[in-house]
Amino acid sequence: MAKIILTGDRPTGKLHIGHYVGSLRERVKLQNSGTYDKIFIMIADAQALTDNADNPEKVRQNIIEVALDYLACGLDPEKSVIFIQSQIPQLCELSFYYMNLVTVSRLQRNPTVKSEIQARNFEASIPVGFFTYPISQAADITAFQATTVPVGEDQMPMLEQTREIVRKFNTTYSEALTEPEILLPGNEVCQRLPGIDGKAKMSKSIGNCIYLSETADEVKKKVMNMYTDPDHVRMSDPGKIEGNTVFTYLDAFCNDEHFGRYLPDYSNLDELKAHYRQGGLGDVKVKKFLYSVLMEYLEPIKKRRTEFEKDIPAIYKMLREGSQKAEAAAAETLAAVKKAMRINYF
Ligand code: ATP
Ligand code: MG
Repeated sequence: MAKIILTGDRPTGKLHIGHYVGSLRERVKLQNSGTYDKIFIMIADAQALTDNADNPEKVRQNIIEVALDYLACGLDPEKSVIFIQSQIPQLCELSFYYMNLVTVSRLQRNPTVKSEIQARNFEASIPVGFFTYPISQAADITAFQATTVPVGEDQMPMLEQTREIVRKFNTTYSEALTEPEILLPGNEVCQRLPGIDGKAKMSKSIGNCIYLSETADEVKKKVMNMYTDPDHVRMSDPGKIEGNTVFTYLDAFCNDEHFGRYLPDYSNLDELKAHYRQGGLGDVKVKKFLYSVLMEYLEPIKKRRTEFEKDIPAIYKMLREGSQKAEAAAAETLAAVKKAMRINYF
């Protein structure tokens, strides 16, 4: 069986370091590993409209921002098909048929939808489009017969819902769809990176992010203001690592070589943590270290982004070509779906 990847992002803002460790870094590795037959990367503008219906301009502008972030991180249109969701009409048709295979109560139980409804204060008035977006996400994944979906942990309930729809479809009609697997980052911290406020997951809609395109000064300011251990007041006080966002980020980003470069008194993160726990290590020193580590990742990304920003029409051309390829693939699946349902009348 062909190995196919589908993944993507909502164009609701620029991409942040949570996307990077949760999904982007992995995607670039998978792309360059050559072990996948096809890779589809979707900019989910139609999904972004389900909770931004009154602000299509925001979604429109962020399509280009997300595309720039992709290219800056190393996604390569020669190896991955990068496309815009709304340009693939087959996705709507598939969603329409899948809606008959899912109950309202099943959607209500989806934990991601539940928490997102809360975060957006939608309790009293949920747009139907938003409520049913797990179904449209099933259409996105199955349209490309994806076997593998590399995403963060917040997407687990979505994948489960998709798998259920695939099983229901294949048993109700006949086998036309592929059941996908989720691929989480190996490092648990990367599956759901918290925001700089240390509370919820880093998320564009909450605004607790360090963006990939941020200037060095902005990154420094954010890191210096980051949440640590509120009881670690004086340097001599013992400090807590658990729930300390600065250490969580170090878990996600730093390796032993970074110590040699910036903190030669320690050989690895465990030693640094032990010193912090014991007392005598100040937050400022740890934060400065984190800043240096982050900049090692962010500087080359930003440099490449600045280059790509010089030719925006070329980005749109790349997206148009990607969307054409994606549409051809989705059309094949839609034909197979209609055949399985025996609604291919002519
Ligand atoms: P929004 O608030 O608009 O939903 P978002 O920041 O949650 O934006 P998405 O576009 O919904 O970002 O997510 C795109 C991908 O990035 C998904 O695979 C998701 O799992 C992953 N991701 C998003 N935020 C994080 C995070 N904080 N840690 C790890 N992975 C993340
Ligand atoms: Mg999200």
